[in-house]
Amino acid sequence: MEQAGLLWKLQALVQEVYTLQNKEGLRPLAAHLKDLQENIKNGEEESRKLLREVTALEKMILAQEESINKQMEAVKNGKDKLYSSKGGSLKELLSQQQALAKMEAEVQKTENAYWETQKRMEDLKAADKQTKEIIKTLKLQYNEGVKKYNAEKNHLEIKIAELQLKQDEVKEKLKPETLKLFVDKEKLFPINPVAVLKGGFCTGCHISIPSHLALHIREGKEFYSCDNCGRILINNLNS
Ligand SMILES: [Zn+2]
Repeated sequence: MEQAGLLWKLQALVQEVYTLQNKEGLRPLAAHLKDLQENIKNGEEESRKLLREVTALEKMILAQEESINKQMEAVKNGKDKLYSSKGGSLKELLSQQQALAKMEAEVQKTENAYWETQKRMEDLKAADKQTKEIIKTLKLQYNEGVKKYNAEKNHLEIKIAELQLKQDEVKEKLKPETLKLFVDKEKLFPINPVAVLKGGFCTGCHISIPSHLALHIREGKEFYSCDNCGRILINNLNS
């Protein structure tokens, strides 16, 4: 029965579309793009955080510079006072010298802190530079991924459109009532509305078919459905 063969062919085309639509092809690519997007977002967040820290350190450096200048000014005044002092007692001189030495130690301490802050700021700037390089690389990868995804998607769409054209060709050859039967059963069994009578069994549900029904199906004058699952049953096409 030619119509049965056409139904079988139509089902094969429907299954091919189904396989393509559910193919893993696009899913890993989409997941990869999502990961990249997430990493870019995190990288940008990290970079903003680093820059905020750099700004805070810049302010700190300015304050430290100011404080060094003030302390040095105080040391200078102390020295001037010490060198120009006349007639003071030895005790007073010693006390002035001690105060001066203390002030100089303070300057040294502030300078050390200043250089430490500078170093920390340079480290943060370097870290930010590195983060930005990583973001750049991730963005390149993302753009490449989008291209690949779109190419794969177009490829799939073209293939599916081709299969749908083939389906239309088969549908045109089907009698209207046969096509209606297929369409109705397809709603119940989207990928296999047609089963085959094989060795007395329905290939859809694997239940044995009563002999009188099997006889009708083998005659192939009209279409019958499986009593058990309801799929269209056609005779084994190879027998
Ligand atoms: Zn069945």
